[in-house]
Amino acid sequence: MSLLEVTDLTKHYPVRQGIVMARQVGTVRAVDGVSFRIERGETLALVGESGCGKSTTARLVLRLIEPTSGTVRFDGQEVSGAALRTLRRRVQVVFQDPYASLNPRLRVGETIAEPMEVHGIGDAKSREARVQELLRLVGLAPFHAQRYPHEFSGGQRQRIGIARALAVQPDLIVCDEPVSALDVSIQAQVVNLLKDLQRQFGLSYLFIAHDLAVVRHMADRVAVMYLGQIVETAPKRDLFAAPRHPYTRALLRAIPHPDPRRRGQVTPLGGDVPSPMNPPSGCRFHTRCPFVQDICRKEEPVLRDIAAGTRVACHLADTLPPFEAEIGEGLS
Ligand code: SF4
Ligand code: MG
Repeated sequence: MSLLEVTDLTKHYPVRQGIVMARQVGTVRAVDGVSFRIERGETLALVGESGCGKSTTARLVLRLIEPTSGTVRFDGQEVSGAALRTLRRRVQVVFQDPYASLNPRLRVGETIAEPMEVHGIGDAKSREARVQELLRLVGLAPFHAQRYPHEFSGGQRQRIGIARALAVQPDLIVCDEPVSALDVSIQAQVVNLLKDLQRQFGLSYLFIAHDLAVVRHMADRVAVMYLGQIVETAPKRDLFAAPRHPYTRALLRAIPHPDPRRRGQVTPLGGDVPSPMNPPSGCRFHTRCPFVQDICRKEEPVLRDIAAGTRVACHLADTLPPFEAEIGEGLS
């Protein structure tokens, strides 16, 4: 049984117009039929360009917003009613912006202790001891508990956010772009901290990111989202070595190659992301896909197994040229 099982999740927002917003003129399909699982101790990275529905998916998993349809099962239980309380403790979150996510009027110790208070864990004295322990776990000196968020750097604030997420001993932490707001030099430290904590406590992560270089360090498996849907899921190694979906290939070509001899071969992703209000017919990627055929404009491809652990939503997934050949390996 998977720790988290998300099935056919959708979030549609009505778009209204008029003086009293009475007239519905369309529907934004922010998340449109998303399914995935996360196993215990595993990191699933959810990647894609901004606006593809990653953060909305994260908020649906956390039940910060209600889904339009679909289910979330946590540890075998469908999340609703009484199970929601369990979810609120066992699934924690680390947000992107360590400047905005900490209450500036609370001392760091209070911020970290707050989830324990909310869930009625321990008394004031034991919570204080736990705060000290948590600060040490994230690499900060215990005396920092008395300080305020503004006295810390971005990287330190993100460590505080991680300590707060750990306070109630969660099984799963949703990390929504946890290092995107940090300097590159600090990013690796925070990613390594998350990995250390995962090993120590057997944590699972839903790791939201647009930066594939970070995902390469962090993920066990990757799910690629485009316009509210997952278009490819694969073990990390397979996804980076042999991406199947044309969108995944385009994303990979847009980052510097880890092999310095091939650093020059960076192709920015062309074209604009279409509106999620009127997504293209058939395959949503067809307006930007170099392999597009007639069928792509007419029929929506479904996510299907095409290799062990790899699922792809593309009509031509079995017939595309290998990724290496496509970018002309051997030319450099
Ligand atoms: Fe490209 Fe067609 Fe595959 Fe969509 S289904 S990704 S348009 S080849
Ligand atoms: Mg986002």
